[in-house]
Amino acid sequence: MNDRLGRPLRNLRLSVTDRCNLRCEYCMPEDDYAWLPREDVLHFEEISALVDVFLSLGVDKIRLTGGEPLLRRDLPSLVRMIAAKPGVTDLALTTNGILLADQIDAIEAAGLRRITVSLDTLRRDRFVKLTRFDQLPAVHAGIAAATRVFGGLKIDTVVIRGVNDDELVPLLEYGRAANAEVRFIEYMDVGGASRWSPERVFSRREMLDAVARAYGAAEPIDAPGSSAPAERFALADGTTFGVIASTTDPFCRTCDRSRLTADGMWYLCLYATQGLDLRAPIRRGASAEELRTLIGEGWRGRDDRGAEERLALGDRRAFVPVQDLLRKDPHLEMHTRGG
Ligand code: SAM
Repeated sequence: MNDRLGRPLRNLRLSVTDRCNLRCEYCMPEDDYAWLPREDVLHFEEISALVDVFLSLGVDKIRLTGGEPLLRRDLPSLVRMIAAKPGVTDLALTTNGILLADQIDAIEAAGLRRITVSLDTLRRDRFVKLTRFDQLPAVHAGIAAATRVFGGLKIDTVVIRGVNDDELVPLLEYGRAANAEVRFIEYMDVGGASRWSPERVFSRREMLDAVARAYGAAEPIDAPGSSAPAERFALADGTTFGVIASTTDPFCRTCDRSRLTADGMWYLCLYATQGLDLRAPIRRGASAEELRTLIGEGWRGRDDRGAEERLALGDRRAFVPVQDLLRKDPHLEMHTRGG
């Protein structure tokens, strides 16, 4: 099933909670937030029923995210339910890693096969400054656990000028030792990035230059037809890494992602200001067929190109003004929508 720009519905990002145990300055910089009402948060059975509908419409890749997904109580039960579904070819988890060492055996036993850990700095003082919590040792333990249990992982790093733009090489070295492919992400002006400014974006070009200064020019790895956001590169010794240029070179043309929030709102673009409520129909007992029609119509009508439209604006500032909108509607936040 394709949308109006010919993009298939394939990747579903399931946010399982809007809560997080970090307060990263580029994502959740405020002291307090308008949280999703607890009674609105979907039960695992409801998520599972919606996932069945998505699978029947072409989704085959599912990523659990949040907020911090490992804060959701009994996450392994949800992993088990989703992993058992025949149409799922890829089930992954994005986490900040703090609770990973404790939970990894249970989620692996439940059927999870792939993990991405977000890590922006290897310097403890910087980590505290950036996230407001002294949790870098716990993240290291989580990454070590992922290497032990899964044999490897991905590490996602948001690179911000003047914050961690001098750490690309140490992070690549760290990734090599952990058997992790590091992906450098451009700072995006999404939801909670209320402190975003164009000057703080460390671009794809600058990332590749920084890597080239240390290792020589990296070779692009061809991935014809790929819808993955990361462009992959290889260093002369075979080490691979990725660059996600969401801000300076968006990949809307091939975007097959959509996002379901923990309370059942479905968003077709990270920048969309409106979502489709799937909680109300599922709670009033809508049949699978009704949900298929609703979701199918939603996707077929999709023409979002949020990141490209933002780029075309030229002079841009933070997407959502924090005082007016962000405080009133938690759905506009990256931590609600699932990064
Ligand atoms: N808590 C989990 C984690 O830390 O990975 C999952 C949720 S988090 C919102 C998902 C990803 O979004 C993280 O890698 C985070 O760095 C990224 N992210 C958040 N705000 C961002 C921004 N303004 N620009 C780029 N990436 C961002």
